[in-house]
Amino acid sequence: MRIDLHAHSTASDGTLTPAELVAAGAEAGLDVLAVTDHDTTAGWVPAAEARPAGLALVRGAELSCRWYGQEPSIPLHLLAYLFDPTAQALVAELARVRGSRVERAQRIVERLRADGIDVTWDEVRGYAAGGTVGRPHIARALIRAGLVADTDEAFEDRWLGKRYRVSKEDTDVFTAVRLVREAGGVPIFAHPKATKRGEVVPDSLIVELAAAGLFGLEADHEAHSPGEREHVRGLAAGLGLVATGSSDFHGSHKQVKLGAYTTDEGVYEAIVAAAAGVPVLGP
Ligand code: AMP
Ligand code: FE
Ligand code: FE
Ligand code: ZN
Repeated sequence: MRIDLHAHSTASDGTLTPAELVAAGAEAGLDVLAVTDHDTTAGWVPAAEARPAGLALVRGAELSCRWYGQEPSIPLHLLAYLFDPTAQALVAELARVRGSRVERAQRIVERLRADGIDVTWDEVRGYAAGGTVGRPHIARALIRAGLVADTDEAFEDRWLGKRYRVSKEDTDVFTAVRLVREAGGVPIFAHPKATKRGEVVPDSLIVELAAAGLFGLEADHEAHSPGEREHVRGLAAGLGLVATGSSDFHGSHKQVKLGAYTTDEGVYEAIVAAAAGVPVLGP
């Protein structure tokens, strides 16, 4: 079985609609695909409606979190699978973070404009098209303005990576693990050692999160070096956590293909068995 547990649609910063994404999953030869948009479940219904018969759909999200145990605090991403999308506390927290994303994007645009750069909030909002607003939408405006060649360049230090970096108000990671569990979901730490994207949390935090209900670690991911993948696998094994692999597919604004990294069938079955929010749809 080919199982890819991390992909984005136009409900956040992917470039395929949820319907196009599930079709692309089947075309890529996947048996299982998880739709995991940033801080939203808006893609769940359109993905479910368009699901090809042979593809199992795991409904999920990628939560914007932060570890406040160190100054400055460190942002991180938590994948959440098969949670109840009507669980009130989690729904409210997702909405709050999406609101903070809008404010942050507006502030980044203001700072760009203050430096004479011709991008507008209307343009950026248009790229997000009603989905969760993210920095890749601002990157697209910078590409359109001819200032950078691609999304990767837009995340370099002279642009979104540092000079025009503004924090959003993410969810405390311990709160997020608790809210996901209370909603019957299964929390997995996304790309926990992606050092090329910025500072990462220490292993000691992962030990604490495991005790707090974390279920697994995403090990095989394009943002991890081979050494980082091995390290994450070792950590997971030592803590009794599962280790997953996934593409983190975003469509055409990143190079990675659906199914570029995959999760073992036994790990997938353990995730499904641990979930109590919503079922997997399909075979
Ligand atoms: P945001 O969620 O708005 O903070 O934007 C983060 C998103 O931008 C990630 O989910 C990726 O899709 C993308 N991203 C983050 N860091 C990079 C990077 N260094 N290069 C390219 N894309 C990145
Ligand atoms: Fe993203
Ligand atoms: Fe992520
Ligand atoms: Zn992602």
